[in-house]
Amino acid sequence: MTDQPINNDALKKTTVTFIIGATASGKTTFIQNHFSNKRNTVILNVYDYQQAAYKEAGFGKHIPFGREFKCLYKANENLLVDIIRVLQENKNVVVEQTLYKAKRRIAYIDAIRNAVENISIEVYVMCPSDSVWEAYINERKLNTSIQRLSANANGIEFPNPSEGFDKIYEVINNNIKLRMDAPKPEIVDSAHKELSDEAQQIKQEEEKAKERLDLLESMNSRPFWHCCECCGKKAFITAKEAFDDGWDYPPQMGIFGLLGPRTCGECDITSTLYWKVQQQALPIVVESMLTKEELKTWRRIKKEPESLL
Ligand SMILES: [Zn+2]
Repeated sequence: MTDQPINNDALKKTTVTFIIGATASGKTTFIQNHFSNKRNTVILNVYDYQQAAYKEAGFGKHIPFGREFKCLYKANENLLVDIIRVLQENKNVVVEQTLYKAKRRIAYIDAIRNAVENISIEVYVMCPSDSVWEAYINERKLNTSIQRLSANANGIEFPNPSEGFDKIYEVINNNIKLRMDAPKPEIVDSAHKELSDEAQQIKQEEEKAKERLDLLESMNSRPFWHCCECCGKKAFITAKEAFDDGWDYPPQMGIFGLLGPRTCGECDITSTLYWKVQQQALPIVVESMLTKEELKTWRRIKKEPESLL
């Protein structure tokens, strides 16, 4: 009988370690000090994924209000995919994340445990004291105050074992302490409920956006009502036919839903609502100052392209 070498790798548990905390709470430095030299370990940072998501959506530094949540959501999703991929390659993962909310952590943990067996999930929560925070601010010349940072940090729901963590550590300055609070199983159900509502809402919004895009696309080829706001002429024709007949009308001229001239080939721009508004000191539409006809035109424009079908 020969000795068979035991494959230790198969028995070894891989670990995913989250480092969470507010802005400037020392996450990156902590990772450098404690994890950068670990073998068989990949370090991922949510910040990289957020930048990529902004870029993909076509934004630089300034993200329009309402779009940021979607980008962050996408970044979280992409990061999760990579975490799972690395774990499946039998490597450990260290993740720099914000994950303030229990529900976000639960979503991650559920997905990871579903995809990878025999895994240990740990979290370190950065809880710097005011003096350490002050030092960070000065060091990085940040334009913020301790009050602002700690208010931000108060938004963190401290992780609970019921979320599915094997180990939870509180990091106060250089002091790492295991902190396993009493389990709160009720947070899991409410998190699942919130997550599924959220996913549902995002799906609906995406479907609506898709429908809108399809409708706008169809306006290039389908016939629709062209209504001259000056002489009242109406024609149910395609955009190409209208263009050939001299109409000024979206999608060839102007944009559906935005004020611009809506005229037939016979009429000219100076009798349009658009022209009138442009002559005002402040070029905005004030409904109370419009004639009955102008109001009709304005309401039709606002509801385009549906108002033309
Ligand atoms: Zn006309």
